[in-house]
Amino acid sequence: MAERPPLAAFACGTLFGVAAAGAMGYAVSRRTTTSSVKSKPEKVSAVNASANPVSAAEVREVEKPASQEVAADDIPDNAAEDCVGVSSDLAGKASGCAGCPNQAACASGEAKKPDPAVMDVKERLADVKRKILVLSGKGGVGKSTVSSQLAFGMSARNMDVGLLDVDICGPSVPRMAGLVGQDVHNSGEGWSPVYVNDHLAVMSIGFMLPNQDDAIIWRGPRKNGLIKQFLTDVNWGPLDALLIDTPPGTSDEHLSIVTYLQESSMDGAVIVTTPQEVSLMDVRKEINFCKKVKLPIIGVIENMCGFVCPNCSHEEHIFSATTGGAEKMCKDMDVPFLGRIPLDGRVAKAADGGLSISDLCPDGPVAKCVAAVIDEILRVTDKNQSQ
Ligand code: ADP
Repeated sequence: MAERPPLAAFACGTLFGVAAAGAMGYAVSRRTTTSSVKSKPEKVSAVNASANPVSAAEVREVEKPASQEVAADDIPDNAAEDCVGVSSDLAGKASGCAGCPNQAACASGEAKKPDPAVMDVKERLADVKRKILVLSGKGGVGKSTVSSQLAFGMSARNMDVGLLDVDICGPSVPRMAGLVGQDVHNSGEGWSPVYVNDHLAVMSIGFMLPNQDDAIIWRGPRKNGLIKQFLTDVNWGPLDALLIDTPPGTSDEHLSIVTYLQESSMDGAVIVTTPQEVSLMDVRKEINFCKKVKLPIIGVIENMCGFVCPNCSHEEHIFSATTGGAEKMCKDMDVPFLGRIPLDGRVAKAADGGLSISDLCPDGPVAKCVAAVIDEILRVTDKNQSQ
């Protein structure tokens, strides 16, 4: 892990908003490398689109056609309906290419070139042993809670862990890691993550908001610009595991992450769901997304699976598994099941207080379940290490 920076040593001058940084990063990093050498660390501040307007030229650059983004299935989002794919020999020349905004880039071969950011990400994460995406089909199923508790749990085993929150519109990790009000700083080595302790570092757009209640209303390309910068510019140092907490669903952000990490030997995805069918139906889509983009699935965690009344010990299944729950779905879809985490008010308390459930309630059922899930994740990813 990178040396934990003494916060007081940082100059707190406002550089320019990450709004602009993300946008600029997206716009120029196809041509530049990750490190911008600066002698003095500076606070990265004020992600507020209205307070830090991006110039019209940057917006035009950022919102350029997606031909420059490598769509995971080789077809840009804005392609003509019968697109042959950017890597086809017919790209830009097929009859269906007429009128496509990407035609010129495809015909010239420009669209085929790999994004240099892919190699920048590979270089930046070269000392990260495990790279794990945490996904969910639906919001509110406990994905960020589980990501935070997995990170706490792994770091308590003396593993060096990074937790990257790319849920740009709903960054809850700073709160769940007990880091509200902390700042990210920029130095010659890149952006310094914020440290919970010597073994756990966190990066989130939440650290860059001048006001916690600010809404982030960004179009996809702009979010992707920041995600790219999170992957290329954060100075994690050597890590045993990097957990990436993603937004729910299968959107631009997921495609970006998978694309940028394509050369970085991803271990795969951990998917969080509740036992309820309305959550599982979205998880099936998430699993099919992973299969489509060839992202290995480490396994599925069933969260909020049962509630044991602390007074009478009666067990209630609040999100009942009307179609058999996550374990059955895993069997049906031939993906590993990692375990269950019960619904427990102390988990919510731990999340709001930025605490590890193992510290709050070391002998409770949730701490045991989280530990069992970590064992399983490490068992699978250790296998990857030895391959
Ligand atoms: P997501 O990231 O999927 O949107 P969150 O992690 O923000 O979901 O969790 C949603 C809410 O559920 C939060 O209030 C969180 O504290 C609560 N929560 C998550 N898991 C549990 C659990 N096992 N027991 C009790 N509350 C939980």
